[in-house]
Amino acid sequence: MSDSKIKGSCVCEKIHYELTGQPITNIICHCDTCRKITGSVFMANSMYMKENFNIIAGEDVLKVYDDKPPGSKNTIHRHFCSNCSSPIYTTSTGNPEYESALTVTSGTMDLGTDSWKPSMEVFCMRRRGFISPFEETDKHEKAPF
Ligand SMILES: [Zn+2]
Ligand SMILES: [Zn+2]
Repeated sequence: MSDSKIKGSCVCEKIHYELTGQPITNIICHCDTCRKITGSVFMANSMYMKENFNIIAGEDVLKVYDDKPPGSKNTIHRHFCSNCSSPIYTTSTGNPEYESALTVTSGTMDLGTDSWKPSMEVFCMRRRGFISPFEETDKHEKAPF
């Protein structure tokens, strides 16, 4: 793949962003938090370096929920549209190795049907029973990070 640009937006379209370069990895997460945050059965995110992500419009309507899981040293900062509630991206603090990266929700990316493919599945122990494991993913029972 070339260094294509990916554009994305929330459902009310107040927030627009752009991604350049390639993701570090594409992750499906089956954990309880990701299910609640999306209101769906798993979360599908791309991890990018922060410099590859740019908010083009709507910075003023972005809101952040600081999620500190009990017993974890990491705080997850979940950025979402305060107008329509779409989750856009998350950053984290507490683990220096990941502070230069962020994860962007694949559902908000304006992509064709074949353009996004998971390379990793995490918290497989929490996968809802009706969902078959995805092919060609690196599978982890919990989090690899
Ligand atoms: Zn919105
Ligand atoms: Zn998760």
